[in-house]
Amino acid sequence: MPKVQARPHGEAPARVAHRAATAAFGWQGVEQRPYKEDERALYKTITRQVLFSDPKMAGELRYFEVAPGGFSTLERHEHMHGVLVLRGRGHCLVGDEVKRLETRDLVSVPPMTWHQFRATTDEPLGFLCMVNAERDKPQLPTADDVARLRRNPAIAAFLDGKPRT
Ligand code: MN
Repeated sequence: MPKVQARPHGEAPARVAHRAATAAFGWQGVEQRPYKEDERALYKTITRQVLFSDPKMAGELRYFEVAPGGFSTLERHEHMHGVLVLRGRGHCLVGDEVKRLETRDLVSVPPMTWHQFRATTDEPLGFLCMVNAERDKPQLPTADDVARLRRNPAIAAFLDGKPRT
């Protein structure tokens, strides 16, 4: 019998040791989805690229990019996020705090804490996000949750896209 190759010649291996960076925060072999809008306005102009994901790893690393004036989903969940801003500036809401974000800042999102990331209006905000591979589904805020958050004027301004800090 002829020797059967595990993989046909030319097919990409399951694990790639090196992926070169391409133009504008892309990487070889990593799917880059175009900016899209959510009709319920849960998020605005954000893309996601999964940089590291493997059954042998307990975590995943993703790169998110929010277009100028865009924002990530306001959500909470049991799993945590470790975030490193790679590109641009913006603001984040974590719990009851709104913080200004500069390139290379770090953000920790604790379990069951409302969070959202917003880009400034003049440039994209790109960030790495470390997350558990096995994780619970994000919860979205109810109208009551949003009303409670909005009682804090700094959070209301942030949610309206006019952060004060
Ligand atoms: Mn999240």
